Amino acid sequence: MKKRIGMYAWGGPGTIRLLRTKYHQPKIDEKSFLSLYEEDYWRKAKDLFGVTDAWLTYSWGFSDEREREDYTFIQSKLPTFKKLKIACHGYVQGFNVVTADFSGQDIFCVDAKGHVQPYSKGRSLTCPNNPQAAKIILDRVKRACQEDFSSIFIDNIIFGLPPMYVSQDFVPFYGCACSYCQDSFYKTFHYPLPISGFSAKTIKDFLFFRSMSTQNFLRKAHQLTQKFHKQLGVNLYDPFIHAPELFFGYSLQKIEPFLDYLLIENHAHPARVPLGNSHLLQFIQRQEKTVFVVSYKNGIGFEEQFTQHDIDSIFSESSHLSYAPCLKTTEFTTRGEWHALRLADLKKPKLDLKPVRHALIKNKAVPQTSFLQKKIAMLEQNHAAVVLNLLYENRWLDFCVRKLGFYQKQLWSIKDYNLD
Ligand SMILES: [Zn+2]
Repeated sequence: MKKRIGMYAWGGPGTIRLLRTKYHQPKIDEKSFLSLYEEDYWRKAKDLFGVTDAWLTYSWGFSDEREREDYTFIQSKLPTFKKLKIACHGYVQGFNVVTADFSGQDIFCVDAKGHVQPYSKGRSLTCPNNPQAAKIILDRVKRACQEDFSSIFIDNIIFGLPPMYVSQDFVPFYGCACSYCQDSFYKTFHYPLPISGFSAKTIKDFLFFRSMSTQNFLRKAHQLTQKFHKQLGVNLYDPFIHAPELFFGYSLQKIEPFLDYLLIENHAHPARVPLGNSHLLQFIQRQEKTVFVVSYKNGIGFEEQFTQHDIDSIFSESSHLSYAPCLKTTEFTTRGEWHALRLADLKKPKLDLKPVRHALIKNKAVPQTSFLQKKIAMLEQNHAAVVLNLLYENRWLDFCVRKLGFYQKQLWSIKDYNLD
């Protein structure tokens, strides 16, 4: 099988607009995003890395009106990729939209108290069980299918806010409590959605319900892409670091049949984490489909331009573990300025042939709850959406939380619990 090398390359006017939506007064090297899809850049990328695949921005979750210029932009760039024989994956935003562009519409995930759940500053989570919310994404998938992409890629399969706290005998309510979820849950299990918190029995039903909801949504997306003879991919995050049924709302086994390739995004960059992506080895070995891995060092907003060593370690590791590297190409912040990957200083990767050490992530047993933990969990259940909104939207609070590394700690901690 031909070795595939990907670049995860968000660009164009939509990416600049999204950065302005997502962050407080960001300093942006606009030219680097507007020229990211130029022929010279990809000729050089092909020469340096042997790129075969590129993930390109189609829709970031703004209104159709605001995204019109993005569609025109990408349409004008696709012939370049065809000429260079690079397969293009049309990037479509998953279960979230830019809040202001859809204000007043009943499409959002809500918590047990009815608060809309934020995804980032300026964006809120939408519910796959809500037909109108699902239609927004599926309409975009359909439109992208009519362009010269070889696959459509849906990002951010996150069904409501994930839980911050999990225990054996009590989990605070998390995910979505919208009327569509409540109706659908009742129809499936014949008792109401447990919005005052889960017991050991009801959490099992809820996990099943969430993964079934995501499966139903992706089945529709798959039917669409099949109709247009396009492939389908989604961002799986890392199902071996965070139990996906619990944190994202999907079951790998249930959605795998709809996916033509598997893309894992994590923070296991081999230049930062000693064991890198070695925990994926067994998964990669039993896969017939291509496994792409996008590894961040510190995460979006904390990532400086990759050094030659960063690039070398990705390519070395991918050759040892036999995955297809997908190189983060965008949203670097060097000296406080957002920019796309600068190729000028980079050379062809030098492979380190030393064998890599292998890690096996053992999934943890779910802990027991103490009285105090239950009280804290109840606070989380009732106030997480409101507090997160406040943290994202207030410039100074957001700054402090970032400085304290809160978001990174959430992303890095291993939460692959044993759910049996
Ligand atoms: Zn819902």
